[in-house]
Amino acid sequence: MTYVVGLTGGIGSGKSTIAKLFAELGVPVIDADIVARQVVEKGSPLLQEIVAHFGTEMLLENGELNRAALREKVFNHETEKQWLNQLLHPAIRTEMLNQLAQQRAPYCIFMVPLLIENKLTALCQRVLVVDVSEQTQLTRASQRDNNQLALIKNIMQSQVSRSERLQHADDVINNDADLSESLPQLKQKVLDLHHHYLQLAEKFND
Ligand code: ATP
Repeated sequence: MTYVVGLTGGIGSGKSTIAKLFAELGVPVIDADIVARQVVEKGSPLLQEIVAHFGTEMLLENGELNRAALREKVFNHETEKQWLNQLLHPAIRTEMLNQLAQQRAPYCIFMVPLLIENKLTALCQRVLVVDVSEQTQLTRASQRDNNQLALIKNIMQSQVSRSERLQHADDVINNDADLSESLPQLKQKVLDLHHHYLQLAEKFND
């Protein structure tokens, strides 16, 4: 069985940046956001259920899910939101478990923005947190997402706090320093963790 390292961090912390460094070492990366999209992809049974419940306006012309229309349907409609979550959450969890079970590498990185919030730590053997200050989160996420400061602050509020996230961490990578200077250190840190995870994976499968 593959050893699962959950990789998490708040909005704009640098999860994708760190995941890429593991991928460069040949480590498989499973991205929870991609899994969440796959369960409602064009033609999927779940997408059909959404259309049966909310109507054909849930579909774009190309047959894909109209995410904006769905968001509108559940926005401020608690029962509809619950209906949707009860449909999606078990399916996403099952598909995550499927994809993790298919891995043949000694360990894999399971990148989940809401790992702690959604209690997906239960699917992981170890938790790696990418840690930055709140100021760094705001600066980087707003640079990336066209300065939507209020929206980013809202998202930060909806996520666990920095200190709570750190309490769940087995390993921490600090990513406050600018990549133009810190890339060699980050690569070294990832390489050290890689060796450590390979050892832990071997023990896990003994
Ligand atoms: P989200 O969950 O918000 O999608 P994330 O945690 O995956 O984000 P990244 O996409 O890796 O974070 O990084 C957020 C932004 O900050 C990106 O534009 C990325 O290029 C930039 N970034 C990440 N790390 C650094 C760094 N050390 N120095 C400068 N910029 C960085």
